[in-house]
Amino acid sequence: MNNQELKSCNQLIAEFEKVVKKPKKHPSKIYYTGVDLGTACIVLAVLDDQFQPVAGAYRYADVVRDGMVVDYLGAVEIVSELKAELEQQLQTELFYAAASLPPGTDDLDGGAIKNVVQSAGFELTNLLDEPTAANQLLKITDGAVVDIGGGTTGISIIEAGQVVKVADEATGGTHLSLVLAGAYKFSFAEAELYKREAQHHDELLPVLKPVIEKISSIIMQQISGYTVNGIYLVGGTACLKNIETIIEKTTGIPTFKPSNPMFATPLGIALSCTDQVLQ
Ligand code: ATP
Repeated sequence: MNNQELKSCNQLIAEFEKVVKKPKKHPSKIYYTGVDLGTACIVLAVLDDQFQPVAGAYRYADVVRDGMVVDYLGAVEIVSELKAELEQQLQTELFYAAASLPPGTDDLDGGAIKNVVQSAGFELTNLLDEPTAANQLLKITDGAVVDIGGGTTGISIIEAGQVVKVADEATGGTHLSLVLAGAYKFSFAEAELYKREAQHHDELLPVLKPVIEKISSIIMQQISGYTVNGIYLVGGTACLKNIETIIEKTTGIPTFKPSNPMFATPLGIALSCTDQVLQ
């Protein structure tokens, strides 16, 4: 990823952040929606016919664990509500959506995610794994996309533009919150909120360093045997200030992240949405 590519990726993210606050209501022949059903957060990103962001909404929710939908009705309800909210903002109906799932869980849970999206009233047009989705935005041709989410870290190795390996390991932001809760005598919910505040990040980094180093060791295990010259971080946990510095130091591999890594996967999912219903 060169500077120009990072710049255009950051521009799209910045535009998305803007439309989440103030939706862009302008005529579009079609709308493409990305539905990111995460362990910690459900995000919907809407693009216009030029694949530019026009609206977005997200909600923290506990309906998915480690990539599995554990509260099916809750998931349908939240996706339906977010869809209605966005339709109201855009004064249109949203038909087409793409969704994603953690790598390696498609046999187990692809059906549930598909059903959630369809039950919320969308036509599902694409279902892809999370790091591959993120790469629709990043456009890496060689390197590892590492999606550090709530419950898991997904790793996707890309060589000459092709995904050659995907893996998902059960360590992510939830584990950082558990460590924080223990160290600060917080409840899990308090730790989650405290951790998400950027002004606490400098103070938190030394406390969270061992878990970040564990994430680095997971990355090293998964990329062993492959030539990886760059690590590209996405996912909400990658928002942690200087997490990239620790990962770069412990892996010895140059590590990059977009301006808001939390929105890379939902935007990548939306970019992969089409108007052809998935059979
Ligand atoms: P998974 O990919 O494991 O299914 P998810 O898709 O819900 O989970 P994301 O939405 O990418 O994951 O990230 C959620 C995680 O990111 C949570 O653990 C949350 O606490 C953490 N997070 C969100 N924002 C921040 C922030 N600003 N600073 C630090 N951590 C954050």
